[in-house]
Amino acid sequence: MSSAAYAPVDLWTAMRRGWRGRCPRCNAGPLFGGFLKMRSHCPTCDLVLEPYRADDAPAYFTIFAVGHIIVPLVLVLERYGNQPPLWFHAVLWLPLSVVIALILLPRIKGAVIALLWSHRIAAPKSSPDGLDLSP
Ligand SMILES: [Zn+2]
Repeated sequence: MSSAAYAPVDLWTAMRRGWRGRCPRCNAGPLFGGFLKMRSHCPTCDLVLEPYRADDAPAYFTIFAVGHIIVPLVLVLERYGNQPPLWFHAVLWLPLSVVIALILLPRIKGAVIALLWSHRIAAPKSSPDGLDLSP
């Protein structure tokens, strides 16, 4: 199916589709072949996904979000929880931080890829030996 067959997708719809791990254009094909491994193209609509590289943005936004979830909870526990010992904080918050990060990371990566696709922010084409040919 050609790209002309798909209706234009607004930014928030595309990002919502990406958040759910679906192709931002057709909403049918999966974005990921593994936990965080992007597919080279959508198996349903053949949208080429390779040029849309999220790089470190998903990790940055995930760390930002996890920090803004965990730190207030730590402060609330410290203030109203009778100041538990440090080992208790370590046992509680470290695994919880990892779990929340693992839940958010693929969703945020999908949303970032959809954002890049929506604005057509693609990596420049490179030569077969990996050299950047952009001006
Ligand atoms: Zn698709």
